[in-house]
Amino acid sequence: MEEQTTVLVVDDEKVIREGCTLLLQPEGYSVATAASGREALDLMRIQPVDVVLCDLKMPGMGALEVLEEAGRLHPDVPIIIITGHGTVTDAVDCMKKGAYDFVTKPFRADHLTLAVKRALEKQRLKRETRRLQEEQARNLYTLAMEQSRMHTIVNCMADGVLVTNRNLEVVLCNPTFMRLLGLSPAAPPPGPLAAYLDDESFLEALEDLAAAAEAEPARCLSQEICRGRVHLRAMTAPFFGPDMKMLGTVTIFHDVTAFKELDAMKNDFVQMVSHELRSPMTAIKLQHEVILQGLAGEVTDKQRQLLNRAQVKIQGLIDLVNESLDIARIEAGYRQLELLPLQIGEVLQEVADLLRVKAEEHKVYLQVSNSPDLPPVLADRRSMEEVFTNLVTNAINYSPDGGEIRVSAVSRGGYVEVQVSDSGIGIEPEEIPKIFDKFYRVKHPRTRQIIGTGLGLALVKGIVDAHRGTVEVESRLGEGSTFRVFLPQ
Ligand code: ATP
Ligand code: MG
Repeated sequence: MEEQTTVLVVDDEKVIREGCTLLLQPEGYSVATAASGREALDLMRIQPVDVVLCDLKMPGMGALEVLEEAGRLHPDVPIIIITGHGTVTDAVDCMKKGAYDFVTKPFRADHLTLAVKRALEKQRLKRETRRLQEEQARNLYTLAMEQSRMHTIVNCMADGVLVTNRNLEVVLCNPTFMRLLGLSPAAPPPGPLAAYLDDESFLEALEDLAAAAEAEPARCLSQEICRGRVHLRAMTAPFFGPDMKMLGTVTIFHDVTAFKELDAMKNDFVQMVSHELRSPMTAIKLQHEVILQGLAGEVTDKQRQLLNRAQVKIQGLIDLVNESLDIARIEAGYRQLELLPLQIGEVLQEVADLLRVKAEEHKVYLQVSNSPDLPPVLADRRSMEEVFTNLVTNAINYSPDGGEIRVSAVSRGGYVEVQVSDSGIGIEPEEIPKIFDKFYRVKHPRTRQIIGTGLGLALVKGIVDAHRGTVEVESRLGEGSTFRVFLPQ
């Protein structure tokens, strides 16, 4: 239920108090009365009052004193002065001191109710204004708190944070970012990204990401940035407005130097162990060959059979050691790539010629077709031989009898694209991201008997990456696979 509005009538004349009561009650107001200023103030202390009608001149405490004290204690309550004709100037003085209005005696009913209504409206507006001001102050406080919290979080993060706008200008970065990048704190944002980061490949990748963001909003970027001995992993995601227009990008820079150092130690260890294993294993293989050739005496069929089996296993171990060594060298950046203009068509032909016998053994048809005016690529010949030997060997190994393998090369937008396609067993979609991991082999009943270490594709990727190229796979289970290698011209 809505609370009734209370009007307090303060007048020493009973007739005025009663007259006002008679006029205001029918309008729906609750009317309280007081015969003196003191009585009015006492009443206001114990009962809520919305508007006061106060006689100007009363014995003892007059309207001016009521105004003063009520104004202090109840600043929201408007006071209307009741005044006689001769005292209008005094009433005006009261208004200067804060009274809201005055009515002159004898007053008309509609004058009185209008004055009360207006006073109440003014009070309502005043309260509403105060409420809005308080709300605004609260909102500003919350915003300031939120900002300060965000500021604290971003500034205390152990990872570097870099935020750009849609034009890829830096709008925010935290102290960790400045420290990781070795920048002086005297270069605060905003500013062009290139003033903060000079890693060309990162800048290009970020531009690509921004250009494609609206079409592929879920696409993120993961890049490694190397500055002296500091290695950073940069993860970038675009962010969008409510209309899905890209507003900018956020990049987190994580210091992975310690992991890199550990990895380098692991590579050194693998290199050392592999090296130590390779010589004795090669020696064992040679000694077996000597025995197999009958140079150490008569060899029985059973002995030959056992030695042949042992030879296959030893060769597998030698391959494992060689591949481990290659991977460790590539990862550590030790392997020297001799980048020279190379006719990749020639390499493909040589690899195919070398593997043709193996293909025939597997009853697989192998065909090479190069487009005639293929431009040369800048590449290391031995590494390229390794890449395509691995891809074609896989195509042979993972194809059933009667399969077909097609190797082809075409020039495409600044790249030479080499395709190795087979009609083999194919790879399940969820396996595809894993097959380039070291030692990963797909568990498949038909591949169980195929000997391999799971290092071939890791090596392929390592070499192609080192040439600033890319390798892609497209495959359908049971239908075949296509490996595409893109090499910059
Ligand atoms: P190796 O180190 O001797 O090459 P591997 O052939 O097992 O051993 P990768 O060449 O790295 O290792 O290949 C990884 C896995 O990917 C393979 O075990 C196989 O399951 C799958 N794979 C690779 N190429 C193909 C292909 N052409 N068709 C089907 N599966 C393939
Ligand atoms: Mg392989």
